[in-house]
Amino acid sequence: MTIFTTEIDAEGIATITWDLPGRSMNVMTLDGIAELEAAIERVTTDPAVRGVILTSAKPDFAGGMDLNVLAGMREAAGDDPARGLFEGTMRMHRLMRRLELAGADPKTMKGGKPVVWASPGTAAGIGFELGLCCHRRIVADNPRARIGLPEIRVGLFPGAGGTTRLVRMMGAMAAAPFLLEGKMSPPDKALAAGLVHEVVPADRLLDRAREWILSARPEDCIQPWDRKDYKMPGGTPYHPAGFQVFVGAAVMVHGKTQGAYPAPKALLQAVYEGALVPFDTALRVEARWFTHLLMNPSSSAMIRSLFLNKEALEKGAVRPAGIPDQRVAKLGILGAGMMGAGIALVSAQAGIEVVLIDQTQEAADRGKAYSEAYMDKGIQRGQATPEKKAEVLGRITATTDYAALAGADLVIEAVFEDPEVKADVTRRAEAVIGADCIFATNTSTLPITDLAGASQRPDQFIGIHFFSPVEKMMLVEIIRGRKTGDRAVAKALDYVRQIRKTPIVVNDARFFYANRCIIPYVNEAARMVAEGVEPALVENAARQLGMPVGPLQLTDETSIDLGVKIARATRAALGDAYDNQDADSVLFFLYEAGRLGRKAKAGFYEYDEKGKRLRIWPGLRERFRRDGPQPPVEEVKNRLAMIQALEAVHAFEEGVLTDIREGDVGAILGWGFMPWSGGPFSWLDMLGPKRAVAICEDLAARHGPRFAPTALLRELAERGETFYGRFTARQKAA
Ligand code: NAD
Repeated sequence: MTIFTTEIDAEGIATITWDLPGRSMNVMTLDGIAELEAAIERVTTDPAVRGVILTSAKPDFAGGMDLNVLAGMREAAGDDPARGLFEGTMRMHRLMRRLELAGADPKTMKGGKPVVWASPGTAAGIGFELGLCCHRRIVADNPRARIGLPEIRVGLFPGAGGTTRLVRMMGAMAAAPFLLEGKMSPPDKALAAGLVHEVVPADRLLDRAREWILSARPEDCIQPWDRKDYKMPGGTPYHPAGFQVFVGAAVMVHGKTQGAYPAPKALLQAVYEGALVPFDTALRVEARWFTHLLMNPSSSAMIRSLFLNKEALEKGAVRPAGIPDQRVAKLGILGAGMMGAGIALVSAQAGIEVVLIDQTQEAADRGKAYSEAYMDKGIQRGQATPEKKAEVLGRITATTDYAALAGADLVIEAVFEDPEVKADVTRRAEAVIGADCIFATNTSTLPITDLAGASQRPDQFIGIHFFSPVEKMMLVEIIRGRKTGDRAVAKALDYVRQIRKTPIVVNDARFFYANRCIIPYVNEAARMVAEGVEPALVENAARQLGMPVGPLQLTDETSIDLGVKIARATRAALGDAYDNQDADSVLFFLYEAGRLGRKAKAGFYEYDEKGKRLRIWPGLRERFRRDGPQPPVEEVKNRLAMIQALEAVHAFEEGVLTDIREGDVGAILGWGFMPWSGGPFSWLDMLGPKRAVAICEDLAARHGPRFAPTALLRELAERGETFYGRFTARQKAA
């Protein structure tokens, strides 16, 4: 297989072109590394070559490292995986260093050839790290392109020299958003930030690269850090200015991550220690911390859930086989409220024609106005254009007329959460839509199977459950009712793919999956408040677990009255089995005090006039007291984490979830479950089912049977197995 081809023209300019066969986007594979090594060896040693262009034959440069490479390095090293990873990383460093020196004598830095990176489009991770090794970085003016180092988002950091080079190039402060947040920039922004040197029209890319080589002076072919007079921008850690940056960075990272994530910590270590030593040593330091990170189970779990399995789900891993393309051309939305308006926006953005229906023209127009306001904000921020806005709005028809649904191939209902209202709009829509149209409900609580009772064609009836705000939340839960057919599932999946979100498919049961797990979490927090546990301890324990917001804050955001409504409905449904009175005592206390949450500027927290959170409301401490000492933070953390994880396991055992990978991806994207853990099933595997059972038994003994380990968890513990070991062995390819 040829991945990199090298052509040398009459002027002695060598062009190395990356074109991974069979893939629309280049990714670095083990074979690719070997071929690139050979190509670099050839062009740097061949005296006939006077300069080198590194480019891609595809519309983009590269999406990054094929993450299976890391697994390959680990496995190849047998019982010494750290050595395999370290040596594999150092091999990359040598290759890239060689490209960067381009034949120069490392002592005098004389005799190097000019090397240009010519990127036609997106360059992420190793793609951009290769660019950083080149003396000139030129990118095509492709507005869809994104350039940067997103590794941190999957629990890694740029480990092929990107960390060391970017910091040496722009200083630790300026590099922080790119390294610590994985910020990706379109070409114009990349140019403004100094990530690249030039942006040129796409058809000029290679000509411009050639021109630069022909005009390059010897000093242009030495990287800044290889020059004698090099000083790190912003200062090294012991420089007065640098000192402040490094101390500030450590505080900021810890404040944001609460120490839950290993990657930012390892990154900072690599940056700090690397800044104190010569460049080549800094690369070794980077490789050591990178290896250290890869050996942490959190990084493999994050890669598995946030990258490999998320992508697999987006590509249709759970799509029923043999059903032709079900992409949506015309979408009807019933109910132009908060959810309907958001669904209209994301669908119109994806190029789908939308009919947005409400009871009055005014309500329908208000729903459409949401898209208008959103696009206006985008224009203000430079992320959209007036043309784009006109295009998006042009696709949305706001009306009260059900006849406008004619020709729709998918309808999503998002009217009030009332079975009667839902049944009525289902019937009215079905009177108009074609026989093939799929009908979906966005209900959050009502069983799909019951709602399908109003439909003439329950096999074409399905749940498509969005999270709020629709344009931000990436998860969509697809719910199969008892009679839902495969074509409806395929339709929902193809639609979710069109709007570029991540789907999970679950079976019909109370609260489906995400809400089912999050409700016990916020209830556990309220229960602790009822026990007189200091509310700040509860909130901070959640943050230390890596939850994006504390459970009390979350309850304020979603509103206390919604909590009360859910509590009442659940109590009515469960009757004597209902055991949540302790949590309810707190919720109803706030409700009766008129503290309805953030929208009322009063809830668990106090707020100022503008709705900014100020502090925990002291009235809670007065009402719910505790005689003994406060529990240890570990205990609070275990209660908050375990109650969610156990619920996920129950959902799996009951068949609501059919695949633990969906359970993990859905948990992180749906409600922000401890992303560093890779999801609840990954977390239980990381603890080890034996230890998880021990924690559960201990909690159950002191806090009640809701913590009792489930039968499956017990069985795994007894057999010394794990969730991923047992349930995904045969699906490893995904
Ligand atoms: P909302 O009250 O903001 O909007 C409902 C809209 O439906 C209103 O504009 C109303 O005028 C319209 N409507 C009511 N009866 C109608 C009828 N007969 N014909 C046409 N339009 C009608 O509510 P929402 O928050 O957008 O929720 C809508 C649905 O989505 C509910 O089923 C809810 O459970 C579900 N949901 C809500 C959230 C959330 O966070 N708000 C999240 C997921 C799912």
